[in-house]
Amino acid sequence: MANAMVLLFAICHLMSTVGPTVAPAELLLQLAGAGQLSVDPSDVAAAAADFGGLARGEPAVVMRPGSSRDVAALVSAAYGAGIPVTARGHGHSTNGQSLAAGGVVIEMSHGRPRTAELQRPPEYSVERDEYYVDVWGGDLWIDVLNWTLVNGGLAPKSWTDYLYLSVGGTLSNAGISGQAFHHGPQISNVYELDVVTGKGEMMTCSEEKNSELFHGVIGGLGQFGIITRARIALEKAPQMVRWIRVLYSDFAAFARDQEHLISLHGAERFNYVEGFVIVDEGLINNWRSSFFSPKNPVKISSLAPGGDGVLYCLEMTKNYDYDDAATIDEVVDALLRELSFIPASVFTTDLPYVDFLDRVHRAELKLREKGLWEVPHPWLNLFVPASRIADFDHGVFHGLLGDKASGPILIYPMNKHKWDNRSSVVTPDEDVFYLVAFLRSALPNSGDSARSLEDLTRQNEEILKFCEDVGIEIKQYLPHHKSKSQWVRHFGPKWMRFLQRKSQFDPKCILGTGQGIFDPFS
Ligand code: FAD
Repeated sequence: MANAMVLLFAICHLMSTVGPTVAPAELLLQLAGAGQLSVDPSDVAAAAADFGGLARGEPAVVMRPGSSRDVAALVSAAYGAGIPVTARGHGHSTNGQSLAAGGVVIEMSHGRPRTAELQRPPEYSVERDEYYVDVWGGDLWIDVLNWTLVNGGLAPKSWTDYLYLSVGGTLSNAGISGQAFHHGPQISNVYELDVVTGKGEMMTCSEEKNSELFHGVIGGLGQFGIITRARIALEKAPQMVRWIRVLYSDFAAFARDQEHLISLHGAERFNYVEGFVIVDEGLINNWRSSFFSPKNPVKISSLAPGGDGVLYCLEMTKNYDYDDAATIDEVVDALLRELSFIPASVFTTDLPYVDFLDRVHRAELKLREKGLWEVPHPWLNLFVPASRIADFDHGVFHGLLGDKASGPILIYPMNKHKWDNRSSVVTPDEDVFYLVAFLRSALPNSGDSARSLEDLTRQNEEILKFCEDVGIEIKQYLPHHKSKSQWVRHFGPKWMRFLQRKSQFDPKCILGTGQGIFDPFS
């Protein structure tokens, strides 16, 4: 009962600027009556933080919607009152992007409401000669995978490394992994969306229909609407994966080989190409690298990494079915023969496709056991133009970083032509660009000052400053900027369009305030 009183008080508070408009008040009361609104302190506290653990912002109310209509009703009421509303997927942002201080957080992934329509199995599109599936915007990718596998042995084509992220959350950024060089990011593999705009309108959009909204929303950082349904492209899921890692001490050879591999697009190619940087041996044991097993023929420490000890690991997979098992060695060997890695540094393992896709979750469970998952994560994700990646290597991996990574450093190239320039996402202006991801964990009580939050945050700033000083035109992925001018610079030539879309679809700037791009009513 106490909670009901607090909730009523919060709704009155939210409606205090609504004035005499009755409709929003009724809508809110209906939603509250259906148990979808909460001001329970534990719900509010959970929605006030994210995976990064660096930002806090308490919402006044948390919503757990039962359907897209409920989302529209809430946003419509909030629009009338000018109240901030942020869609939250799994809250795995690192800089408060899914927060809505003083407003409403809509927990899209909580309870995962699936309407009858969204429980339909995948369908075949004659026009595209391809299967697709319609999913709820708050569905986690792991659930999408499980659904499509049991309904036809299908799977989405483009992935993130970690599957406990929501469809709406990754489509609001890009959604990238080692398949992006060939299939493009996840935003290049979505055909249609249902979106609730910042005015509370429900709209279906695609390349053909309401295309301005469609292109705005994908990679749009939650600024133009809330994705309630997404139509995702599928392919037949392979049964097995051959997962290979090889090592380099020569960055030029590593980058050349990575770029060679992503230029291949026929059947004779790997299905996944990533890589990471090893600046200290401790990294071998980090959460993304449980791969190197005692069965491997060479121990990392026995490799003589010349120079200052920085190593690069190229990581690839080749999908296959049980029927192809007899030829997989031959196929992989032919591809590996073209590469210049350190001889005898080939580490391979075979595993079911699903286990490969879900690999990071296994590492998560281990970290959780040790209490090392819920620590601050000052991550820095950069897109670096290929023409300057060697300068970046020299200045950062061999310079600024010293021998402390404090987490995995991913590095892999992608092809720009697989990205649709009409979307809101921004990438460097070159045919090939790299993701460089510093996935850091700060350990406040470790006694190791090099792993303190302050030290890692300072190092992130030094990396950005280094790029600025030597003129490397990076773009932040999962961007975080502190001032309007930095955002304008981030979007560059796309800024004016971004502004136009904002005034068209969210004129009161109530959506996605946690991104810090616009102030409500700005
Ligand atoms: P949230 O953090 O909840 O939200 C992120 C943003 O999206 C917010 O602005 C929010 O308002 C908006 N949003 C959420 N749902 C919707 C919706 N339905 N409609 C409109 N806007 C919405 N990214 C990659 O690309 N590749 C990776 O391999 C990868 N690996 C990761 C591994 C880990 C362990 C973590 C923590 C993150 C990883 N990420 C990766 C980053 C991740 O994709 C983004 O942080 C993503 O936003 C997280 O999804 P989420 O559901 O948690 O979104």
